[in-house]
Amino acid sequence: MRWHWLFGDQLGPHFLDPGDDGPSRDARVVMIESRAVFRRRRFHRAKAHLVLSAMRHRAAELGDHVHYVRAETYGEGLRGLPGRDPFTVHHPTSHAAAAFVRGLDRVRVLPARGFLIPRESFRAWVDLRGGRELRQEDFYHWTRRELNLLMDGDAPAGGRWNHDHANREPPPRGCATLGAPRPYRPREDAIDEEVRADLDRWQREDGIEFVGRDGPRLFPASRREALAALRRFVDKRLADFGPYEDAVLAADPVMSHSLLSSSLNLGLLDPLEVVEEAERAWRDGRAPVNSVEGFVRQIAGWREYVWQLYWHFGDGYRDSNALGHREPLPRWFAELDADAVTARCLATALAQVRDTGWTHHIPRLMVLGSHALQRGWDPREVTDWFHRCFVDGYDWVMLPNVVGMSQYADGGRMTTKPYTSGGAYIHRMSDLCGGCAYRPGDRTGPRACPYTTGYWSFVHRHRDVLAANPRTARAVYGLDRLTDLREVLRGERGRGDLPP
Ligand code: FAD
Repeated sequence: MRWHWLFGDQLGPHFLDPGDDGPSRDARVVMIESRAVFRRRRFHRAKAHLVLSAMRHRAAELGDHVHYVRAETYGEGLRGLPGRDPFTVHHPTSHAAAAFVRGLDRVRVLPARGFLIPRESFRAWVDLRGGRELRQEDFYHWTRRELNLLMDGDAPAGGRWNHDHANREPPPRGCATLGAPRPYRPREDAIDEEVRADLDRWQREDGIEFVGRDGPRLFPASRREALAALRRFVDKRLADFGPYEDAVLAADPVMSHSLLSSSLNLGLLDPLEVVEEAERAWRDGRAPVNSVEGFVRQIAGWREYVWQLYWHFGDGYRDSNALGHREPLPRWFAELDADAVTARCLATALAQVRDTGWTHHIPRLMVLGSHALQRGWDPREVTDWFHRCFVDGYDWVMLPNVVGMSQYADGGRMTTKPYTSGGAYIHRMSDLCGGCAYRPGDRTGPRACPYTTGYWSFVHRHRDVLAANPRTARAVYGLDRLTDLREVLRGERGRGDLPP
């Protein structure tokens, strides 16, 4: 009997399509629910729930066609497979899983699916650059050309590659919400009930621990739900995606974001169908080009780039620590204790993570990640925290996003500068500073904003690195003009690792 092994992030129909390099048509499917995965790391409970629910929904769809194993480890699950015939598996999405699969003696590894560009094509693109720096913008243009995505002949559709100028608006003044149509939300079923009962039992009897709250499931767990979420986004919400994609509103965490990351990363949706749907909306006149380009950029630019870099940089990338940051994560952050935090932006973002396992890219980058960077927290710990606490977190997506983009631990291999700011940026791009106990413009005194003081303290600590980079040299120039730097630094030291 032939077997094909589906990992828990290979759940869409495209992972079983025989195609040129897929599993054989008559293969039986094996899926393994490994308990050790949950024992090794303290995941957000909503994430554990989502992953198990999605795997079990897929198993229910496949019915008799699947052999669903609940085992301690993958190895144990595979050892129980009847027969000695070789089996196939699509290339997994992490270095650890790839090494595990390579070490098996009866496996044929098929190329990865669920991404837009084959890895060999990316390697060819890197070679073509002949040692020049790899930049996301160049990669994104190349990807659009390769896939003929949002193109008019040789030119970008709409006349330009980049619509960032129209897509960086601060939130509309005086509005608590963007007023976008509500996103798709799934309805739980008997499978979710069973998953909840199992997680309760694991916690009670097996000592498996979670973090965060497991409220009603908010993200799709089946292909049917994921397609409904995609359609609702494209039909009702994509048109407004662009202008406010970097803005943050306390009472409207989702705004016009798609909430599709977990479905893409579970493999329930294929990125090509997602960007093609978006392009169709533009061609049919249902969404403006700036919103469609902004969205396509997220997937064909960022998501794809991050995936390719994960493999390009190799497993050692996770140990990068160019800024020498070694502080441990404080307990309040690790425990998602938003109620302990005074700074309204940080408390809001942390509460969103605690309650849903999701927040959009600006709270991730400019609130949570920026705070970690300013405080000098160990990038490995920060990466692990993001991985465990986000419903869409996987090793491949975390490493470049956190080690590179958010913590600049790779010294600039991925981005041209560290992403961090004082309170002024958060004030401009959000309504989070209103009603906060701190004031973004204050550097000293009882209302000094922890992001503003944290920013100057960061620039002070890393002045040599920042002065040598043309994109950040101005920050050092600004630092040298501060007349109250000593007081700022004293205030910063006084905070210790207490919640700000
Ligand atoms: P939208 O804003 O609607 O964007 C559309 C899609 O683009 C997303 O669904 C996602 O698939 C893709 N995308 C956009 N940016 C990225 C990116 N930088 N990397 C990968 N995909 C991207 N995304 C994850 O999928 N998993 C993560 O674990 C993750 N961790 C992040 C950590 C940090 C510090 C930062 C700065 C970003 C991270 N991102 C991650 C990227 C981004 O924040 C999320 O993809 C996005 O917020 C998910 O919400 P959405 O589906 O509504 O996205």
